[in-house]
Amino acid sequence: MLLFTPGPTPSPEAVRIAMGVPTIHHRTPEFEEIFKTVREKLIKVMGMSEVIMLSSSGTGAMEACVTNLCKSHALTINSGKFGERFGKICKAFDIPYTELKYSWDTPAPLQDVVNVIKANPKIDTICIQICESAGGLRHDVEGIAKAVKEINRDIFVIADGITAVGVEKIDTTNIDALITGSQKAFMLPPGLAMIGLSDGAVAKIEKAPKGFYFNLASELKNQRKNTTAYTAATTLIIGLKAMLELIEKDGFDKFYADTKKRALGANAALEALGLTIYPKTPALAMSTVYHEKAKEIRSIAKKKYAVNIAGGQDDLKDTLFRINNMGIIEPYETAWALNAVELALDELGIRVYDGTANNIFSVKVFKGN
Ligand SMILES: *Cc1c(COP(=O)(O)O)cnc(C)c1O
Repeated sequence: MLLFTPGPTPSPEAVRIAMGVPTIHHRTPEFEEIFKTVREKLIKVMGMSEVIMLSSSGTGAMEACVTNLCKSHALTINSGKFGERFGKICKAFDIPYTELKYSWDTPAPLQDVVNVIKANPKIDTICIQICESAGGLRHDVEGIAKAVKEINRDIFVIADGITAVGVEKIDTTNIDALITGSQKAFMLPPGLAMIGLSDGAVAKIEKAPKGFYFNLASELKNQRKNTTAYTAATTLIIGLKAMLELIEKDGFDKFYADTKKRALGANAALEALGLTIYPKTPALAMSTVYHEKAKEIRSIAKKKYAVNIAGGQDDLKDTLFRINNMGIIEPYETAWALNAVELALDELGIRVYDGTANNIFSVKVFKGN
């Protein structure tokens, strides 16, 4: 079965082998050496001043950023389930917040954010997804972060990059906290979250420590010494080291370029089948299609053609399907996933199969036009 969901993604063999050795104790020089290597690599890849690794799924890192950085009022951007989650986190911790809410295919317009921030001087934090995975859309985080900082440099920008880090090179100039998780572009099993921090975020965290397990001040203190406050996710960190080394073989620029090529190729192939790409601003992480028969298409792709693609969530559970583009993926695998969609359309009487998906994708990816 090909796993083509936008998280979890399948772990490459080299990574699985690295994680197959007996684990080692976390309070040892051997593990600290591995931790140090991963830390340094992550700081570089994320383009941030500091990094913290947490034994948690991605949501834990979202919570940690909100509780450690927001002191008076947050602005949350809700264009989908993950943006909605930032608001739920604020609510759970009694942090006052204002939410800007949009349809799941619509990114936040910069002017809306500017207006709200100008009208609410109490806002000290903005929380936004880079890619909102619910509908596969890309917010203009760079533009929004720049505009926010131009109004007030002290407002923290928390960017959920869980389906953006490792997908594309992110301009982190105006980002204070960049969040990611192990099970998306880094192709590891779930359970490790990472947060990149700016100098400003580090200063704030150290000045006013907050929380217990997700106390980023105590994690920072420990992780700078290449250890963790609590038991590290040793096996996942060993796997991450192997994954980062695997990507470094050909370099991150190629990794990003390959992802982009596959994503644009997949979208073009799906459109050539007469399908509608759902988001107005598609992210590269996944190809998201709206179709009344999305559930049936997925079901046939899985049962008959051994491709597991994701559905939507909530109201769009049965009418969206999402094909993953993150990680190291052989183009022949994506070609097969697209071919499976085309075969399913034929079986459902929607469109006669003629190999268009494979043709368009192959031309885009291998002939570069
Ligand atoms: C996957 C994902 C998360 C994190 O979810 P977890 O299940 O907690 O790992 C958060 N934000 C986005 C945009 C995601 O895609």
